[in-house]
Amino acid sequence: MRIMIDGHYLPGNIRVNRDLLITLANIAKSLKFGIRYDAQRELVLINSKDSSMPPLPTDKYVEERIEDENARLAGKVICLDPGHGGSDSGAKGPTGTLEKDNTLAIALLLKEKLERNGATIVMTRDSDTPVACTADQEELSARVDVANHAEADLFICIHNDAFTSSTAAGTTTFHYGDKESQKLASLVQQNLVEKLGTKNRGCRFASFYVLRYTNMPSILIEVAFISNIVEEMLLSSVDGRDNTAESICNSILRYFKV
Ligand SMILES: [Zn+2]
Repeated sequence: MRIMIDGHYLPGNIRVNRDLLITLANIAKSLKFGIRYDAQRELVLINSKDSSMPPLPTDKYVEERIEDENARLAGKVICLDPGHGGSDSGAKGPTGTLEKDNTLAIALLLKEKLERNGATIVMTRDSDTPVACTADQEELSARVDVANHAEADLFICIHNDAFTSSTAAGTTTFHYGDKESQKLASLVQQNLVEKLGTKNRGCRFASFYVLRYTNMPSILIEVAFISNIVEEMLLSSVDGRDNTAESICNSILRYFKV
């Protein structure tokens, strides 16, 4: 979608988005600017001198766009696996933040974003608990079972990296070597590094249990190093978590080419 004000294009081409359209319509209304949307050209026209321009057909247009947006991942089942939980805190940052809290917060934000695009989300956990519910069940196999029983189309496992040296930094995405997982991993890795500005440690093969035994394309993301104080802030901040979730969501949309 492009925006034109008084005959001049604003730089950039942005994805049509309900919140943006409603905001633009409200701003134009309060400034008494004319605004209308040319659906054919995906163009918002704003006229500061002529408020008599027909108003943006908010209701019908927005409803249609919402349907489009919502349909993009319709029928897709995505399993999100926030690493650790309950008595297993995962790694601990220098200021005391816990990996299990960061992974859950990111996964919950990602769930929301994917659901807005029509996906069905299955969480291995959605609170601070382990996934295995009986003492004799292995934690990792419980996580794999959730994804396999749901017949999910994708499995996304979220972790924070940690190392003894506090200078270790960056993002890594792991896969188990099959073509589809590699494709998803490379999209996620690229988007995350661009958005977070972290060091690119690359997409790597790993024989992690959750990657080996899930029946669908699956990846494990080490978003950043919780043992590094700068990246610890990124992982525990609202913005850092939201940017992480946004990047993963965009990568999934690109993976499905929608
Ligand atoms: Zn972990």
